[in-house]
Amino acid sequence: MRGLTVGVIGGGIGGLSAALSLLAAGFDVQVYERSRALGEVGAGVQVSPNASRILHNLGLAGELARVGVKPLALHQRRWDDGRTLLRTPLGEPLEDRFGFPHYQAHRADLLAALAAAIPPERIHLGHRLTAFDQTHDRVRLRFAAQDDAEVDVLVGADGIHSDVRGLLFGPERPRFTGCIAYRGLIPAERLEGLDIEVTAQVFMGPGQHFVNYYVSGRRLMNFVAIVEQGTWTRESWTDRGEVADALKAFDGWHPQVRGMLEAVDETFVWALFDRPPLPHWSQGRVTLLGDACHAMLPFMAQGAAQAIEDGATLAACLAAKSDDPAGALIDYERLRLPRASRMQALSSENKTRFHLHDGPDQEARDEAMAKGATDWSYDVVAWIYDHDAANPLP
Ligand code: FAD
Repeated sequence: MRGLTVGVIGGGIGGLSAALSLLAAGFDVQVYERSRALGEVGAGVQVSPNASRILHNLGLAGELARVGVKPLALHQRRWDDGRTLLRTPLGEPLEDRFGFPHYQAHRADLLAALAAAIPPERIHLGHRLTAFDQTHDRVRLRFAAQDDAEVDVLVGADGIHSDVRGLLFGPERPRFTGCIAYRGLIPAERLEGLDIEVTAQVFMGPGQHFVNYYVSGRRLMNFVAIVEQGTWTRESWTDRGEVADALKAFDGWHPQVRGMLEAVDETFVWALFDRPPLPHWSQGRVTLLGDACHAMLPFMAQGAAQAIEDGATLAACLAAKSDDPAGALIDYERLRLPRASRMQALSSENKTRFHLHDGPDQEARDEAMAKGATDWSYDVVAWIYDHDAANPLP
């Protein structure tokens, strides 16, 4: 075991995957999660090859193959007639090109797979971090209702409302992106008449789009229905949504879209928030990871993937400079911040691209997509999917 103790705040996909990368690099890792149980929302997540590469190398290939679905393609379609705008193969051709598969998974399955690979005594539930004090060689952690702990390095993987981030750089509210998302899961047998392929589909239309893909061994269909909305006035960030409202918003859309919304029992509505890129993620022996430092719109399906990459690069930087943790965190930030910021910007730009109203701009977009010149063609996404975050140093 290397000498350093690393405390990770947050037991989400980012925190647990970072803990696994750090354990694999030989560090003493302790995860502190405020909830009494680990858990994820009932929804799907896409795990692209840049993330599956890391998870496979951490020993999760078997579990991902068991709980994940490998889609045939990413199929981007027009909102009303369903015409293909771009169809990018995601199955074997993608695996051949990038070396690792693309999975679609239920978030709870992915989180459970990560948690099962970490010794349980390293995950401390019911630990809400409220403060920390940093000296030149230690960080003291203070929790709401638990004893203090001491670590050599502190990693804030505590999500978009990150307390660690607030303690480091001061409070700042995330910004409402002008989009809300209805999310739901539908038993696959209810959709048999709709002939939905095992692809990730994106239906693009005026001011909104609809994403759907199978999860949980194809037993469930996951959907995310994004709608632009001027303000978010509810107090909570997520709420039970009315299926009728979603159906109204998608009036006139393709029969598969309508059919999925008609088949769902309940839907949750989320306000989508992001943050502008931060100038820095680290201070001394404390740093940030995942949504805590680069919350983004989900329109590149890269939020969790980038958090997984963060953990792999962080472990590599600390391993390379374990006698100088603060220096290692500077390396980590230098390697990660530009890439995550670029992903934040692209995710934001996709809001405009996906939501064009019918007219000249939409026609130009569709023409470019037909040539494979934009978006998810292999050449365009190679910088994302080819990235080896666990080996970032020259
Ligand atoms: P979180 O999952 O928010 O975890 C933070 C954890 O920290 C929580 O468990 C919380 O309880 C804990 N915590 C908070 N404060 C404290 C504290 N003070 N003390 C202790 N613990 C604390 N990404 C993809 O890669 N692919 C996709 O297909 C995709 N689809 C998405 C679809 C939608 C609609 C949305 C909204 C997001 C999507 N994302 C996707 C993004 C992805 O979900 C997030 O980027 C990712 O889950 C962030 O993980 P995280 O671990 O950084 O944060």
